[in-house]
Amino acid sequence: ADAFNDAVAGSDALNCFIVKTPEKALEAADEADRALAAGDAKPLSGVPLGIKDLFCTKGVQSTAASHILEGFVPPYESTVSGNLLEAGAGMLGKLNMDQFAMGSSNETSHFGNVVSPWRRNDGGNTPMSPGGSSGGTSSAIAAHIVPAATGTDTGGSIRQPAAFTGICGMKPTYGRCSRYGMVAFASSLDQAGPMARSVKDCAILLEAMAGHDAKDTTSLKEPVPNWEAGLNGDLKGKTIGIPKEYRVDNMPEEIDALWKQGVEWMRDAGAEIVDVSLPHTKYALPAYYIIAPAEASANLSRYDGVRYGLRETPDGANLQDMYAATRAAGFGDEVKRRVMIGTYVLSAGFYDAYFTQATKVRTLIARDFDSAWESCDYLLTPTAPSAAFGLGDLSDDPIAMYLNDVFTVPSSLAGLPAIAVPGGLDHQGLPLGLQVIGKALDEQGVMNAGLAME
Ligand code: GLN
Repeated sequence: ADAFNDAVAGSDALNCFIVKTPEKALEAADEADRALAAGDAKPLSGVPLGIKDLFCTKGVQSTAASHILEGFVPPYESTVSGNLLEAGAGMLGKLNMDQFAMGSSNETSHFGNVVSPWRRNDGGNTPMSPGGSSGGTSSAIAAHIVPAATGTDTGGSIRQPAAFTGICGMKPTYGRCSRYGMVAFASSLDQAGPMARSVKDCAILLEAMAGHDAKDTTSLKEPVPNWEAGLNGDLKGKTIGIPKEYRVDNMPEEIDALWKQGVEWMRDAGAEIVDVSLPHTKYALPAYYIIAPAEASANLSRYDGVRYGLRETPDGANLQDMYAATRAAGFGDEVKRRVMIGTYVLSAGFYDAYFTQATKVRTLIARDFDSAWESCDYLLTPTAPSAAFGLGDLSDDPIAMYLNDVFTVPSSLAGLPAIAVPGGLDHQGLPLGLQVIGKALDEQGVMNAGLAME
């Protein structure tokens, strides 16, 4: 009990929890003691996990780090968090994040930014971003407050924070994990996944999270393999593709060096390396920043001051005024920006020029990957174009912030599994990440390739 209480108390400096539930972790630990003695322990018996606040947790406030959902206590459990509890895990708390999972730095949370436990070696003490949107998750894991936790990834929100904090994170194939009870951002892209300090822990966690769920029509009817047992880090007979279009303009030399290091690790594990081309890569980011806001604007229309959380009723307000006042007060700036972009690209006059066009680009990007698989098994890329930045460095520049997703967004648009693993440190002593992308449903191969670089 003391250890759990100390862990959550010690987390305050990082602001990684929105709600702390050490009593729940303790309950699971007690149950694990009983189960171990009785010989019926489960895969995650007693493991204290953090749950990103995007997941609805029964009886525990779930806000997606927004003001509009403040005070919302779901009467049901998301499938993913329920699966983890079912596997014996305990919940240490709800983890902070970018509001509605929109952001790359964790600065859009209504509950204050999360701080990374890392500092750069410049003699100062600049608080660093833990990445986003799963920044409460990455920070809590990197600081050893929890051994593992859930993340969600719409365009990179598991992988980029993993890279920024020197941990592992995996976005599985779209549909591997149920979206039931996960607050929707962009439904055709949203995917839950594990974050932890090793590939093996990610495998163990994903095994418990994944599986078909009748409550989510996009959930895949596929058996969940024993990924942990299949890990061997052997890449003999495998071919790794290096996509030339990921060599973006102004890419820091250090990122290039990291990439070369990754290639060497792959070669050492027995893989053959080939150059491949994904010609439509440069259109991925613009297409994502049309499709994701479009879907977000539709998904967020449900926050009307009637069904959940906050309600603002100015004097003499009619229904319309109540909607407007509630949404004005309840959504943060980045969320409003997305709703405005989304409604614009979906509006009658611009639908074809923006939304239809972006969905066509999405198909071309998926086809690029299909062609790449004719000559390789996996793709190796950096996870993010830079190491972590300081809090506040990019918060006034949405475009610079969006550019952070350049390497993670294409595989999201194509629904493919991808893992981020630590690749080393940059000149400031900050972690850098490498990403492996694989074919749909080949989580096993992707994890193995990740393991080869660990
Ligand atoms: N940073 C991206 C965005 O803001 C991705 C977010 C995510 O994957 N949830 O949309």
